[in-house]
Amino acid sequence: MIKVLKFGGASIKNSKRIENVFSIIDKYKGQKIIIVFSAIANITNLLEDLVELYVNREAGVKNKLLEIKAIHFGILDNLFNKNDKVYEKINNIFDEIDLILDAKPHKIFSFNYDQIVSKGELLSSIILSDYLNLKKINNSLLDSRDFIKTDSKFQNAKIDWLLTKKKIKEKITNFPIVTQGFVGSDMSNNPTTLGREGSDFTAAIIANSLDVDEVIIWKDVNGVLNADPRYFDNPLLLDNISFSEAIELAFYGAKVIHPKTIQPLQQKNIPLSVRSFLNYENTGTIINSSEPKDIIPLYIVKENQVLISISDNNLSFIVEKHLSWIFSVLSKHDVSLNLMQNSAVSFSICVDNIKHKIPSLIEELSNKFTVFYNEKVELFTIRHYNSLSIERVIKNKQILLQQKSRNTVQFIVA
Ligand code: ADP
Ligand code: ASP
Ligand code: MG
Repeated sequence: MIKVLKFGGASIKNSKRIENVFSIIDKYKGQKIIIVFSAIANITNLLEDLVELYVNREAGVKNKLLEIKAIHFGILDNLFNKNDKVYEKINNIFDEIDLILDAKPHKIFSFNYDQIVSKGELLSSIILSDYLNLKKINNSLLDSRDFIKTDSKFQNAKIDWLLTKKKIKEKITNFPIVTQGFVGSDMSNNPTTLGREGSDFTAAIIANSLDVDEVIIWKDVNGVLNADPRYFDNPLLLDNISFSEAIELAFYGAKVIHPKTIQPLQQKNIPLSVRSFLNYENTGTIINSSEPKDIIPLYIVKENQVLISISDNNLSFIVEKHLSWIFSVLSKHDVSLNLMQNSAVSFSICVDNIKHKIPSLIEELSNKFTVFYNEKVELFTIRHYNSLSIERVIKNKQILLQQKSRNTVQFIVA
């Protein structure tokens, strides 16, 4: 029985939480486990700020780095003795970041991004591995760059499955293993990242490659709920959902699972449990091939969206030829659609507002078409909707666009 346990940033956000993670892992003592860690809470955001400052050659780079250092060393001071080896290991990673920051930025933004942002997971996994060793859970720390092999599409790297599976089987032989989520490397061994929130996906890649028996992801919620508690009061816990429903939920933007996570698990019929790291005795939600008995409305919110409306300059119809050009531009800019709608003279799309992609996308679309866009809109999706659930979502909101199918209704709201 092999199990993959994945811990996100919130579960290791401070030393108390790290002690709590130890208590969870201790329950699996003696079992074959692979533990995947994300970066400590908010560190990926701070590293993103750091890359931005570095690439734009702005003052404040070193202060940002000091801020990131302070968080890590604060945690070390609470968990370790001053002369423990872990201080040197963490210092070495910060020296590596310093070296990057002292050099001229690479011309490709996302190359710089992956070089720097990947360090978040390295830092957290070193701390956790050493802490578990200190607490007598003797583990091997494996560098995910040695086995998660990808193409060179930095910031959103695609997995080379054949090579990755081979490497995982070669490298993961003894247990427990501690490793990093979200991070891999390309064929020239440059670090790559799998897209924000990608650590769940790493857990699924390892699980699929080794045919493990179960994956458990530990969250700050009791499991998969029928709505994001940040937006809706009193969401209900779903004891069980099917792989297909989970894929839909993740696709529409339920932040609790990364969209790429489910497919590799479904392929091997590996159950995924979503459990609370705080109430860790609870079983949470199990995602597997069986369908739940009750179907209730599920609410999903995707924040920070842009609604882009594209129309022909002389108000003629948007025809297939135009659409095919628009799709090629979207693909070129690596922008995926969250919703699209066609009317007589305009084509509307809703996409994530990604800083380094959307302005250049809009610029290129504007070369051929008239383009209007609304920033800071939200995309609400209800699966298994009814009139009550729709009322709950749209009450007092300005609806910019809506789309209904048999199972799903979506609203773009300002
Ligand atoms: P991690 O610590 O693994 O990165 P995240 O913060 O990315 O975890 O995901 C957990 C968060 O997902 C919850 O705090 C919750 O706000 C959000 N969330 C969104 N939709 C749901 C849902 N349907 N069920 C549970 N949580 C959800
Ligand atoms: N640390 C990365 C992020 O915050 C990956 C992850 O947490 O899954 O996006
Ligand atoms: Mg997350």
